Amino acid sequence: MLKPTDIDQLRGDFPILTREVYGKRLVYLDNAATTQKPQCVIDKIVAMYTTMNANVHRGVHFLSQEATEEHEASRKVVQQFVNAATPNEIVFTRGATESINLVASSFCNTFCSEGDEILISAMEHHSNIVPWQMQAERLGLQLRVVPINEQGELILEELEKLVTPRTRLIAITHISNVLGTVNPIEEIVAMAHRHDIPVLIDAAQSVQHTRVDVQALDCDFLVFSSHKIYGPTGVGVLYGKEKWLNALPPYQGGGEMIASVSFEKTTYNSLPYKFEAGTPDYVGTAALATALNYVTSLGLDNIGRYEQELLQYATDKLLSIPGLRIFGNARQKSNVISFLVEGVHPYDMGTLLDRMGIAVRTGHHCAEPLMRVLGIDGTVRASFAFYNTPEEVDLLVEGITRIVKMFRA
Ligand code: PLP
Repeated sequence: MLKPTDIDQLRGDFPILTREVYGKRLVYLDNAATTQKPQCVIDKIVAMYTTMNANVHRGVHFLSQEATEEHEASRKVVQQFVNAATPNEIVFTRGATESINLVASSFCNTFCSEGDEILISAMEHHSNIVPWQMQAERLGLQLRVVPINEQGELILEELEKLVTPRTRLIAITHISNVLGTVNPIEEIVAMAHRHDIPVLIDAAQSVQHTRVDVQALDCDFLVFSSHKIYGPTGVGVLYGKEKWLNALPPYQGGGEMIASVSFEKTTYNSLPYKFEAGTPDYVGTAALATALNYVTSLGLDNIGRYEQELLQYATDKLLSIPGLRIFGNARQKSNVISFLVEGVHPYDMGTLLDRMGIAVRTGHHCAEPLMRVLGIDGTVRASFAFYNTPEEVDLLVEGITRIVKMFRA
């Protein structure tokens, strides 16, 4: 179990947390957008460029082989982190967004035709809407949307009712980046499989908070971004069951993804390289592996327990502010609190909090359709990581209280 004293020590791993902005101590509460990086991840990037930089997979020379071994060892770290059956099921991409685009393009091209349906939910990030919509427009598919209830939970009975013989895939987020809702993905996968429908899980907001085991879940695809789990930007992961990845055509063409090329015909490489055209970000993958090892050494169960306590503390404190309304009150909720305060525009709230050194996010959070369902233009969002403290929550609450007083004066 992580205790506040451990957190004080762990904060020392994150150099940026000692920064000041506008002469105030930085209170970073925008972790759902991106997380800060521990020194070990920063050191790994420097070490890779300082001692090991060479293009992977292509060289007979020492450095290239060393960089290749590091890159492939990183794939194994990711494999173990999500408990995939083999490293062939781990494809490196640029991020969760690219991972979803890859599946949307390759899957729909192969398995969908006019009139077929893709099922998503009302709480999806644009990254899990637009790629499907683009394929829908191209191929004449229908997007079906699972509704949510007042608490911001998926209405599961509606989900099953929306399944038809034309449903080809269900793409659903594990944790909502706006509402914090933790969706019952085990149940959803089991239901989908009863109808022989594959499921893609958007785990961009979950792998940093809770243990995800793709074999236990039995999901067909799962995606996440390195930068949201204390790793570098520009790297992402697509997990896919081997049988699906084998059945899908390549997404992009170029070097790495080929077995042989002639002007007449190209044959493709084996998994996972078939989906990794061009030079991969081998520095990024090595640093992602460092980040995953760091998280594993703390223990995701420990992280999750501490963060749940912090979430409860923050929720109680925020609700004590008159006129503050929280959007998303699911029974299973993760580390995101979206709120509005009567009479204060979210943009004003975000800007004034920023002047106090408190970084929150305002706006639609890349979930415009969800904002429409909620009947609002946007919210203020505070999102927590394990390095946040109750004192930081107190500063947020003090800040909001001051701003509310200013506006009501
Ligand atoms: N899915 C969810 C739920 C997200 O919150 C995000 C980013 O905020 C994404 C997908 C896209 O992640 P990225 O921009 O790193 O590709």
